[in-house]
Amino acid sequence: NKQVVFRDYVSGFPQESDFISTSSTIRLKLPQASNAVLLKTLYLSCDPYMRMLMNSRPSAFSYSPGSLLFGYGVAKVLESAHSNFDEGDLVWGMLKWEEYSIVEDPGQLMKIHHTDVPLSYYTGILGMPGITAYFGFHEICSPKKGEYVFVSAASGAVGQLVGQLAKLMGCYVVGSAGSKEKIELLRNKFGFDEVFNYKEEQDLNAALKRCFPEGIDIYFENVGGKMLDTVLLNMRPHGRIAVCGMISQYNLDQLEGVHNLMHLVPQRVRMEGFIANDYFHLNANFLEAMLPYIREGKISYVEDTVHGLESGPAALIGLFNGRNIGKQVVSISTE
Ligand code: NDP
Repeated sequence: NKQVVFRDYVSGFPQESDFISTSSTIRLKLPQASNAVLLKTLYLSCDPYMRMLMNSRPSAFSYSPGSLLFGYGVAKVLESAHSNFDEGDLVWGMLKWEEYSIVEDPGQLMKIHHTDVPLSYYTGILGMPGITAYFGFHEICSPKKGEYVFVSAASGAVGQLVGQLAKLMGCYVVGSAGSKEKIELLRNKFGFDEVFNYKEEQDLNAALKRCFPEGIDIYFENVGGKMLDTVLLNMRPHGRIAVCGMISQYNLDQLEGVHNLMHLVPQRVRMEGFIANDYFHLNANFLEAMLPYIREGKISYVEDTVHGLESGPAALIGLFNGRNIGKQVVSISTE
């Protein structure tokens, strides 16, 4: 049973040496008189929030030095002592980074009923990042047809979906990303109206003014820092900023200051954070909306897949230097 262990708390950028790829020969057996399930891991998801669990602020949701890494993933039930799960069921939820796992309390696992789409989609478009994009955009941004929408980290798991959902609403959509290849994807595959490579712009404010001569109604915030500060100068009256995440800050010991918050006042801008888990109970409504978009080809979805558990750590840390093109998935087994 191959596994990935979290070595110790991290400060600054995570390195491959912060993780240990190992293997256990202990045969997993369901504990007696339990509700546990034995799972075979199929796909693991690399997500930016995992960096925050590596900080030395012990809490219920931090990684513990010397214990297995965990995160979202897709798995198959091999054995079940739980009345809601049968052998052969497919599930997604929090999994340990190992090939075979015992989950003592499988109540948090979501059953997968629709298998006409790739199973890996339940790490992304049909899983936590999809829920983030769908509810973050529709609930927090309160979009209206024709509004001007800006998405940062726009080619990633969440960003590519927000951009396409905004296009489906009839909005004008601009995305930023950090490479030529990503910019082309935004324009040619996801249908963004305008795009820019934030790494190549000398003057972010000039780039935003070029793309939004009349200002921004909705900013879907994925990166924070200088981008947020510059967007604040360009918001239209009654604009909305959905604070989904701030990946540029996750590896910093000291967070960057934001200087332009005062602009929220005269422009009456609403800025609101949110967490995907708050919407998990609406999963059925979410699938009802998202599955037809996929089946009818109204939303495209790009994944970046590495193979084997031992490739996981490099893929995970790649999120913080933009190595991933699309949703970063680790494929463990296809059946
Ligand atoms: P992505 O698939 O977008 O991968 C991360 C990308 O972020 C990288 O590819 C890179 O793209 C970009 N990036 C990395 N470092 C920086 C930096 N210093 N400055 C600017 N961009 C950077 O990740 P997700 O779509 O999964 O997540 C996007 C955001 O959404 C994150 O902030 C994440 O924390 C947040 N999130 C929040 C959730 C919630 O519940 N609130 C749930 C899920 C995600 P590039 O090449 O363009 O720089």
